[in-house]
Amino acid sequence: MDLKKLVNKGIDGLSPYEPGKPIEDLERELGIKNAVKLASNENPLGPSPKIIDSIEMILKETHRYPDGNATRLKAKIANKFNVLEDQVTIGNGSNDIIEFVARSFLGPGDSAIYSEHAFAVYPLVVQAVGAKGIEVPAKNFSHDLNAMLDSIEESTKLIFIANPNNPTGSFIEYSELIDFLEKVPEDVLVLLDQAYFEYSSYETKDIDFDVLQRFSNLVISRSFSKAYGLAGYRVGFAVSSKEMADYLNRVRQPFNANSLALYAAEIALGDEKFIQKCLELNHEQKKILFTELGSLGYECLPSRGNFISFDCKEDSKDAFNKLLLEGVIVRSLTVYKMPNFLRVSVGLPEENQIFLEKIESALSK
Ligand SMILES: *Cc1c(COP(=O)(O)O)cnc(C)c1O
Repeated sequence: MDLKKLVNKGIDGLSPYEPGKPIEDLERELGIKNAVKLASNENPLGPSPKIIDSIEMILKETHRYPDGNATRLKAKIANKFNVLEDQVTIGNGSNDIIEFVARSFLGPGDSAIYSEHAFAVYPLVVQAVGAKGIEVPAKNFSHDLNAMLDSIEESTKLIFIANPNNPTGSFIEYSELIDFLEKVPEDVLVLLDQAYFEYSSYETKDIDFDVLQRFSNLVISRSFSKAYGLAGYRVGFAVSSKEMADYLNRVRQPFNANSLALYAAEIALGDEKFIQKCLELNHEQKKILFTELGSLGYECLPSRGNFISFDCKEDSKDAFNKLLLEGVIVRSLTVYKMPNFLRVSVGLPEENQIFLEKIESALSK
C-alpha cells in the first residue's frame, strides 16, 4: 500500500509545528535541575493561585464528560466583555479556533492571506484544508496592510492578522487597523488573532469586541495561554457574529475543552488582581530586557507582547544551542525566515537575569 497516494494532498506537504523545547527534556539531557525556559511566551507567574486552591473539587468530577456547551465559561466571557453568549466559541486553545475558521470557510480552490513572519500555524491550517496560502512580504517585520489588501484575489476568503504578532512583537495601531478593516471587502473574512491582547491593551489602545458590530466579516480570537497563564490547560475563545459562531461550532468537537480547562478559565477571568500583577511584571521586566539587550549591543524589535525578538548577530540555531548548554531555552526564529533572530519570553526577574548573564558569556559579539 502506498500511503502517499492516499493522504490528503495538503497534509502530505506539511511540516508539523515545532514547539518550544520542554524544560524536562533539557534538564534530563544536561543533568541539571534549574533550567530556565523563556521559549513559549508563557506567564512566568503561573496560573492564578485561586485555581490551584480550588481545582481539586473538579478532579473528583472528571469521570463525567465536560459541559459540551461550556455554558458557564461562555456566560462569564459574555458578561465580562459585554457580548452575547451566542457570539462566543470555545476552543482547545485559540489554535483550535484558527482551525475552526479554516475548516469552516476554506477548501480547495480558495485562498487565504497572511503576512511573512506571522504566526506559523496559519500556513499549516490553510495547507491542511487544501487551500492556497498567500504570504505577503512584511514591512519592517510588521504586517504590510496595504500590500495585504492588494493581494486579495478572486479566490480569497480569509485574511489572518496577528496583533500583536508572534514572533516579531509588531503591533498595528488602532486607527490603522480600523482603516484596514474598512477597506477589506465584505465577502472576505478577517481573523484577528489577539493572543497577546491583555499585554497590548495594557500598554496602548487596542481593538476590542465592540468593533464586531461594525464589521460582520470579523472574528476575534483570544487565548488563556499567555497572560492568563493557562497554556497547559488548552483553552481559548472567539467572539464573532452569532451567525459565524454557529458555523464555527459546527466543526467543533463535542467536548473540545476539558473540565479542568473550562473551570480554570472561569476562575482566571475573575481574578482581575492577579492578571494586573502579571501585566505589571511583564511591562517592567520587558523594559529591563530591552535596555540590557541594547547595552549588550543587540538590536531588538519593538514588542507589545510578553517577548522580545532580537538580532543575535549569528546563526540563531547556533546561538540557541549555546544558550541551551547554559541551561537557558529560548527560540530560534530560523523557521520564521529570520535566521539571525532569537525570541526570548519575558520571565521572572531572576530568570531574565540568568538569561542576560548567559547571553553575555555564551554568545560571540
Ligand atoms: C500562542 C499563540 C496562539 C495560540 O495559543 P493557544 O495556546 O492555542 O491559545 C495563537 N496565536 C498566536 C499569535 C500565538 O502566539
